[in-house]
This record gives sequence, structure tokens and C-alpha cells, in this order.
Amino acid sequence: MEHLNDISIRYLKGIGPKRAETFAGHGIRSVEDLLYYFPRRYEDRTKFASIAMLREGESQTIKATVTVSSERRSWRRKGFSITQAVVDDRTGRLECVWFNQPYMKQYLKPQSTVILYGKPQRYAGRLQMSNPEFELVSDEGADESLNIGRIVPVYTVPSGIGQRSFRRLMREALDKYVAHLSDFLPSGVRAAQELYDLRRSIANIHFPENEEVRGRAYARLAFEEFFLFQVPLIMRKVRRKQVSGIRHSTSGKLVDGFIRGLAFTLTESQQQVLEEISSDMAASQPMHRLLQGDVGSGKTVVATAAAMMAIQGGYQAAVMVPTEILAKQHYEKISAQVSGVRVGLLTSGLSKKDHEKAIREIGGGTIDLVIGTHALLEEDVRFSKLGLVVIDEQHRFGVGQRALLPRKGHNPDVLIMTATPIPRTLAITIYGDLDVSAINGLPPGRKPVSTQWITEDRREWLYQIVRREAKAGRQVYVVYPLIEESYAMDLLSAEKMYEEFKARTFRDLNVGLIHGRLKQQQQDAVMAEFKHGRIDILIATTVLEVGIDVANATCMVIEHADRFGLSQLHQLRGRIGRGAHASICILVSEARTEEARARLEAMVSSNDGFVIAEEDLKIRGPGEYFGSRQHGLTGLRIGNPLTQMQLLKKAREEAVRLVSQDPDLKDPGNRPLKLKIVQRFPEYERLSVAG
Ligand code: ADP
Ligand code: MG
Repeated sequence: MEHLNDISIRYLKGIGPKRAETFAGHGIRSVEDLLYYFPRRYEDRTKFASIAMLREGESQTIKATVTVSSERRSWRRKGFSITQAVVDDRTGRLECVWFNQPYMKQYLKPQSTVILYGKPQRYAGRLQMSNPEFELVSDEGADESLNIGRIVPVYTVPSGIGQRSFRRLMREALDKYVAHLSDFLPSGVRAAQELYDLRRSIANIHFPENEEVRGRAYARLAFEEFFLFQVPLIMRKVRRKQVSGIRHSTSGKLVDGFIRGLAFTLTESQQQVLEEISSDMAASQPMHRLLQGDVGSGKTVVATAAAMMAIQGGYQAAVMVPTEILAKQHYEKISAQVSGVRVGLLTSGLSKKDHEKAIREIGGGTIDLVIGTHALLEEDVRFSKLGLVVIDEQHRFGVGQRALLPRKGHNPDVLIMTATPIPRTLAITIYGDLDVSAINGLPPGRKPVSTQWITEDRREWLYQIVRREAKAGRQVYVVYPLIEESYAMDLLSAEKMYEEFKARTFRDLNVGLIHGRLKQQQQDAVMAEFKHGRIDILIATTVLEVGIDVANATCMVIEHADRFGLSQLHQLRGRIGRGAHASICILVSEARTEEARARLEAMVSSNDGFVIAEEDLKIRGPGEYFGSRQHGLTGLRIGNPLTQMQLLKKAREEAVRLVSQDPDLKDPGNRPLKLKIVQRFPEYERLSVAG
């Protein structure tokens, strides 16, 4: 038989062209995709809860008969419908309501049997379920063996198909094809870790015989994900150690002078990290190190010191940052900090003349240290002797982009930096191809930012705080979300707020506005005004997110705070609390969803980037968190690195062992594994497995 990844789901009953298209939207095209489409949760329907014994506030499943149902429009909110039903399971009656799901009415016919899953809450003295998940039980005689009397899978179903049909489809796919799955995990690994084989795991992740078997199926599949993900990382790491790079002489006048010349002393943590970097740079293999550290922890200084190490031996260093503003700011700051070093700037915003000049000087070696944006990646940028590459805010660049700059030298040392740190143990595995350093804590003398979350009704109070800070000579950021889907509207509200502030609310103060639609020159002008204290209140969109450094800014207001992701909120907050004065961050949001509330609460309760990152991972779940561009990886569907740390460690150990025995996966026994890796992580074929 063909490989299951080459067999279209169209070969299954009930999948026509239209359904195939919706399924494709969920990433399900082949039979293999379907078999790897795992349940979102399970229900133990070997026993149902009885209505009489329902526990308040706990999710439970009941099976009952509908006695009455009705639908009405809400008189409070226009166009809003409420569907109600009373169900009875002979032990008692329960009222259920569905908000704004008018189609529910047609399923809730009296006498029909339904399965409901939800959390009973007390309402007007009685228990009630609102918006329970719902399944209609078939008429007598139909086969219910997939849906009742067993542990039942519940999927995130593509639209237009119900849980029951989806289960039937999955059952069919399993019956027809599971026997054709071939296990690609090396048998030695499977035996050592006592893992289920693939067929048994796939069958039992969907329709588990019992809880224990489900657990083992899960363990195997999560291990598999981690393993598939670790092997190429470790291959890449091993391969990198084989090439020879530059042995920098890391101590000398330039470095010492730079460090002595700073207006402060490096923290212990900064010194520690610098030592790690320095021993990497002195070694003959190129450095590939990730430097984690919260916003404002002082990564840039460390990176500049590393640049001095390269430069004093006659090499060039390049620092790439994601935005123009940041590039300029780094350029100015670093220029002022170093002496005896020629610093250059390269961004796409330069005039043609300056741009050409910069390129000439980079190529000719008259610039020692260049700071730039993506513009550094362009083809006409050639270095005379590139010895160190620093990539700042690495998550803002794609995997491919990160790989591009180092190619402009002969195996230069590479330092990548991130301000969205993740716990160290996790980082070692997620960034398995890199060495990891972390700057812990912030430089001394900073006052932690106090964060508050308020709703609209406290806007008056909010403006008092803003006024208080501005009157005390400090500066304020007011941040607006700006997302592509509603760009025009968002921009309008930021502009409106600006007009309103200027004309009325803060008429006596200087108000500024900055957003990405302004010309670069205008943006620069506004930022310069702000830096020089000529703007008291700056209304801004997320151009602020990275790196802006104005120590006098002590207050940040984030409007519609629920529309930002957690790490983004934390990044934004990092713009204040940079000076000696106490700072305050105020999140304005009605936060209607539980997830939004969780994010805002996390912000209020912690200032620590590592804690925030962990919360973010918890709230979003590993699939979305690690699937996002931030980590450049996709493919984690069920393996949760947070809760499955042990499994992840084991997968890494096995991967290390395997790669040490067969570094290029040339052994015929490892061929199925290699094929699977290439299938699962196409980007790694280019970057590592093949390259
Ligand atoms: P990051 O790049 O990690 O966000 P920066 O390197 O921009 O942080 O540092 C933030 C601010 O702290 C800068 O103004 C920097 O000069 C200052 N700084 C860095 N290290 C120290 C230190 N050890 N003591 C005092 N201030 C420091
Ligand atoms: Mg930085």
C-alpha cells in the first residue's frame, strides 16, 4: 500500500470535495493527517452523572430526555437569542440554556435523548448548565457503540460535521488503515523506553480501551513528537561542532577599556554570561549561543562587549535588530559607549547616498561594528572580515533570516538574543541546537513596575494618574493595539484619542502620536521629541514594542489590553521602569473571556519574564505557543513540554544517543525515521538534515 500520507481522505466514506476542503483547513488532507488528528478531550461514558447528584462547578456528562424547549430573543441585547430546555434523567430535572445558538432549538425536540457536557452553576437557587456541549442520541436500534458505554473522544471538529460523524469517520479510517502504519521509531529506542508501538498507540489515542491504555498511547505519541523534534536539532548541533571557526583573542585593551568606560559595573549575571560567550569565542568551533534575558536586563551591553572581542582581533561585528527605531537607538547608544571603534548604521531608511556609503565601508572594512535591520541581509551587503553576528530580539526574525547573516562570513560566531525567555531547562531542549545563557534579574537600582488592571469605569482615575506623572516631569506612553484585521479602525481610535487629549483632556500638556503609517522621518522626529522630553504623553501603536529606551517614562497605559498577547504585554511594559523613579503600568480592558482575564492577571501578579513566559505557555497551550513564529517550529500537537518535562528529557537523551551512533542517519534501520523527520519539519531538511 501507498504511504498513508499519500492517501487522500477522499477515499473515506462521506468525504466529498466540499468536506475535503473544510478538513484541509484543519490540516487534514491525508489519511495520516486524520489519524494524527487527536481528540481535544475524552468523556468517560461508561457511567453518566445523575442529575440528582450533580456537583456544582464541576464539568460532568449526563444523559437525559428533553421535556420542553423554547427560544426567545433577548430584550437587553438586540439580535441575541436564548435557547432553553429542561431535561430529565429520572433522578431529576435540569435546566439548560444556550446563548446565541439559535440552531440549538431544532435539536431539542421533546422526547429526544441527549448527552450534555457542562458545568452546573447555581442560578436563582437552582443548578443550571449554560452552553453545555451537546450530542443527540440516535433513535433506538442505531449503533451507539462509539458514543456510549466507553471512553469517548471529543474532537475539535471541522465545521459542518458533528462529533458522531467524525467518530464514525475516524473509526472507519482506523479499521481500514491502522494496520498499514509502519513504526519509524528505532526499535532500540522503543524498547529502552518501553513505548507502545505506533499502531496500538494511534488506535488507543482515539478509542482507548481504558484510562491506562490511553495514558500509554499518549506517552508514546508525545515521546514521538519530542524525539522527532530533537533529532534534527542535535544533528545540527553536532554538525556545527565539526566546522572550524575563528579563535578570537578575547582579552585585550579594547574589551577592558569598554567595560571600564561604562557608567556602571556589570552585574554578576552579566559577567557570568560574558565569560560563557568569551570562552565560546576563544574556541575553534563557532559559537551558537542563545542569550535570554528579560527586557532591560542589559543584554545589549554584553553583546557590545562581545563585539569588542571580535574587533580587537581585526574582525567586524554585525548587530541585527528588527526595527529601524531600535537600530538607530542602538547605534547612538553604542557609538557613545565605545571608543577607537568605527560604528556604522545600515537600514532601508537611509538615503541612497548614505546607504551606498555604508555598504562601501562595510565591504572595505572601514566599519568595525555595524548595526542594522533586515537591510543587512541584502545581497549587496558584503563584509570584509565578519567575525561576530548578533541577532537581537530573535523571535522577530524567521528561521531562514536568522541563518542568512552568518553566511556573510566564514563561520563567524553567532549570538542570538531574546527578551521572551522560557525556563532554562525548557530552553535547553526547545533550542536544542544552541547553547543557552541567561541574564537573571535586572541591573540594580530599578524600581519594579507596579501593574494594575482597570475597566472603563475608572477612566477618570486613570487620567488623574497620567496627569500626576506628567506634572511631576515624567512621561507617559498610551499604547493602542493595531492589528491587520481592523487596522483602519484601530488607527482611527488612536488618532481620535490623540485629538481628544490635545483639544480637551490634556490641553495643558504636550501630546504626541506615533504609528507605523507615518513616514520614517516623521516617526524619528516624534521619537526624538519624546526622548528630549518635549512630549509628555505619547500615543503609540506597537512600534514601541521593542527596545525603546527612555528612562524618564514612568507610566504606560495599554488600551484594549486584552487584545495583546501576554509576552507582547510584558515587552511593552519593559519600556517603563528604566529609571530611578517608580513606574506604573495600567491595563484598560473589559476582558470578556477567561483567557483574556488570565493574561491580565498574570501581568498584574508578576514582573518576571521567565514567570510570564511560563504563564503564556500554560494559557496558550504548547501547540500554539511553540507553533508561533516565535520559536520557528510547528508540529507539537500533544506533547506539552511543561507537563511532560520528563518525557522530553528522555526523548532528548535518546536523540543524543542515536545521533552519536549515526550522525547522518545513514543506517538503513534509521531511514524511516529520517523520512519522517523531513516530512514533519520541512524547514529542517533545508537547514539541517540536508544542509
Ligand atoms: P536589554 O537589551 O536586555 O533590553 P539593555 O541592554 O538595553 O537591555 O539595558 C537596559 C538599560 O540598562 C540600558 O540603559 C543599559 O545601559 C542599562 N544597564 C545595562 N547593564 C547595567 C548595569 N549592570 N547596571 C546599570 N545599568 C545597566
Ligand atoms: Mg535589547
